[in-house]
Amino acid sequence: MRPLIVIANWKLNGNLKSNQDWVQVVCRGMEKGMPAGRKYVVCPPFPYLAQCADLIQNCSAAFLSLGAQDVSRHETGAFTGEVSAAMLKEFACAYVIVGHSERRQMHGESDGLIAEKALQALDHGVTPVICVGETADERNSGREVEIVRSQVAKLVSVLQDRLADCLIAYEPVWAIGTGKVASAQVAQDMHRVIRLQLAEFDEDVASHVGILYGGSVKPDNAVELFAMPDIDGGLIGGASLDPQEFLAICQA
Ligand code: PGA
Repeated sequence: MRPLIVIANWKLNGNLKSNQDWVQVVCRGMEKGMPAGRKYVVCPPFPYLAQCADLIQNCSAAFLSLGAQDVSRHETGAFTGEVSAAMLKEFACAYVIVGHSERRQMHGESDGLIAEKALQALDHGVTPVICVGETADERNSGREVEIVRSQVAKLVSVLQDRLADCLIAYEPVWAIGTGKVASAQVAQDMHRVIRLQLAEFDEDVASHVGILYGGSVKPDNAVELFAMPDIDGGLIGGASLDPQEFLAICQA
């Protein structure tokens, strides 16, 4: 079966000292024992990947993996400010978030670009965590399924069978950083839509792909969300900054 995966997305937060404290607290907590069959990932900003890779390596509980928050669609060359999948791999990143709604909105990332980024990650053995989700306006006008299906359709058309090696994160934009979590049933319904759409392409792919929920996940709502049949974990923003809160979500 699909493992439950909990991913901390620090966004533009952290510093050398607080990162060290965070990893220490989380590692100590995890050493005391964690639920079986789960995976945990932390995604710091690029400059801290090397520091966090070292800190994680020194942690005796081999539970925590490293991820990045974005990746270039290019291999190498004149692309100022970009970071390649090969570079992420060198710094022990096993995962990378692509197509987060903050990048879609603030950096104009399209479904096509996001699919290309995911391909780059896959080519270098890094698991892409591909974000999809509708805005408040799209949901209020009853178009949430149409919007998410069109985002997923582009992924299917570009990635095809390779989707089996990806994770998808359903993150309704109206729930991100707002405290307005989708109810477990609303989230489950969209996760079902996504899984059925993947099954139209290939049943095997659909049953393999982990679909995570993101948007105002907290320790007190994580239990209900993670209990849903098509919710395979969470992508956690604000609540992941506090190591105790993140641990509590990991244990939910
Ligand atoms: P949030 O963010 O948990 O702060 O809502 C989730 C995300 O953006 O990945």
